[in-house]
Amino acid sequence: MTPVLLVLNAGSSSLKFQVFTLGDSEEPQRLFRGLFEGLRGAPHLRIRDRTGTTVADEDFGSDGAFGHEDALLHVAAWMRAHSGGFDLVAVGHRIVHGGMTYCEPVRVTAEVLEALERLVPLAPLHQPHNLEPIRIFRRRFPDLPQVACFDTAFHAGQPEIARLFALPHAMIEGGVRRYGFHGLSYAYIASVLAEYDPALAAGRVVVAHLGNGASLCALNRGASVATTMGFSALDGLPMGTRCGSLDAGIVFYMLREMKLGPAEAERMLYTQSGLLGVSGISNDMRTLRRVAAREPDARRAIDLFVYRIGRELGSLVAALGGIDALIFTAGIGENDAATRAEVLRGAAWAGFELDDAANASGGPRVTRGPGPTAWVIPTDEELMIARGTRAVLSRPRSSRPQPAL
Ligand code: AMP
Repeated sequence: MTPVLLVLNAGSSSLKFQVFTLGDSEEPQRLFRGLFEGLRGAPHLRIRDRTGTTVADEDFGSDGAFGHEDALLHVAAWMRAHSGGFDLVAVGHRIVHGGMTYCEPVRVTAEVLEALERLVPLAPLHQPHNLEPIRIFRRRFPDLPQVACFDTAFHAGQPEIARLFALPHAMIEGGVRRYGFHGLSYAYIASVLAEYDPALAAGRVVVAHLGNGASLCALNRGASVATTMGFSALDGLPMGTRCGSLDAGIVFYMLREMKLGPAEAERMLYTQSGLLGVSGISNDMRTLRRVAAREPDARRAIDLFVYRIGRELGSLVAALGGIDALIFTAGIGENDAATRAEVLRGAAWAGFELDDAANASGGPRVTRGPGPTAWVIPTDEELMIARGTRAVLSRPRSSRPQPAL
């Protein structure tokens, strides 16, 4: 039987999973990637092997009964049945928030799980879904090692000043500070910079993770020194459905004048804003690009997204004291040449010179000339989780950080 790791990224109605070997090579090797969508609705499962060939494509009825637990058990059964069987040695989970305690991947114990549950108020729309599969696996397979890998961890080494809000001391000490997210993506990009150009790994780099969630991160010699997301994953750039940075006064206006309850206000800012809110059409960049010529609101949403990237980029260049390179990654960053072109034209002030032909063909380098460079580098958050899980498994089971916020 092949020893494998299962990597999970659970959302409210979806479950992304990947299977990695734990063979002799240092780097875990990806075998399969799967996606359950429409859980508690009309679930659909698709699994692809490493060549991209679909090996499972199934529907699971539409009565709303099939949820996360059924999906996880189905995946476990599929793995057991698959080609002579996989020996599942551990599960690695993407967990959005590790608070101030968890600055690296950690083996999940009862105390760790309890501490991660206490962080739910800091990431109410993501953390509960991330934790649910952990609970299910603990109940169903209590001896199976589980490892939590955090989106916040990569930013833990930022300078103190970059993490502070100008709030009363007690709030800061109580954990109200900038954490930053998308850390698994940034850690992966930092780990491969030297393969593209050794100067990138040694330089001042801004990474633009532009997907349905979006943020920028300033890297100095591969370490995070500032990022656009803060206390929650709502901060910074406008996103598919999230508003990004907001005057806090707007929240009081929503509560007091618009008479929204906190849950309604939260839902509006997380799920009805961003590209979707401004365009009134879609949160999906592909759709917006398709209709932008005839739908001024789609054009306006794209323009705001690009404008905000430019403004935040300027802020991170200031934090770094200059810039040597800009990296585009995630769904929009990797695939939307038009967004890259618009961002780079807007950043000509910093010396970027767009190479149209290279950009149209996806790079990897999309600039020319003597100024700072820009690159397209595909991210791989799941590989970072597999690496982190493997590293925890090979550590002795002693050091357990005391849970706190
Ligand atoms: P992610 O969250 O990283 O999966 O990214 C999702 C976003 O990437 C959505 O806004 C998609 O519309 C966008 N996206 C994916 N493929 C393309 C593409 N070929 N062109 C433009 N946008 C894309």
